[in-house]
Amino acid sequence: MRQIECAFESEVVMAVVQSRWPDRADAELREHVKTCEICADVAAVAGAIECALEESAACVAFPGTLPDSGLVWWKAQMRARREAVAAAGRPITAVHLAAFACAVGLLGACIGATSSWFQGALKWAWAGITGIDIKAIVPYVAALIEGHGLLIACMVAMVFVVPVAVYLAIGRD
Ligand SMILES: [Zn+2]
Repeated sequence: MRQIECAFESEVVMAVVQSRWPDRADAELREHVKTCEICADVAAVAGAIECALEESAACVAFPGTLPDSGLVWWKAQMRARREAVAAAGRPITAVHLAAFACAVGLLGACIGATSSWFQGALKWAWAGITGIDIKAIVPYVAALIEGHGLLIACMVAMVFVVPVAVYLAIGRD
């Protein structure tokens, strides 16, 4: 889980909204922002918001600064954004592999359960081909495709639906 908060975050925001960033900000703070991913992000977004505010009525009412409620709201937005980024970066590969293993196991079980059916079908098909009885083969082939279609649908569901469901379940905690 990547870090989503930094102790200097508020200082960076205040420096930006008070128009001290970056030229009149503390040298120490500037050094920190160079090495801190969170604060660099905060400074960039706060700068963009500050630019927009300068052209709005809010800036006339509160020149050079944001009201506390605005700052609180803004910080909540930033936190939610970072949490979303952190959640999106969670590894899903292990879940995919587990689902794929389940799907392969299911396929193996299905083939095992229907092996006598497969063998009988192959003999029947071979007999049909050698006997050149096309009309008798057609309904059988249709049944075979239908059976496989169901199997393929099951595998697709296992490989794609299961990891998404697990991912959503993990993502909600
Ligand atoms: Zn920081």
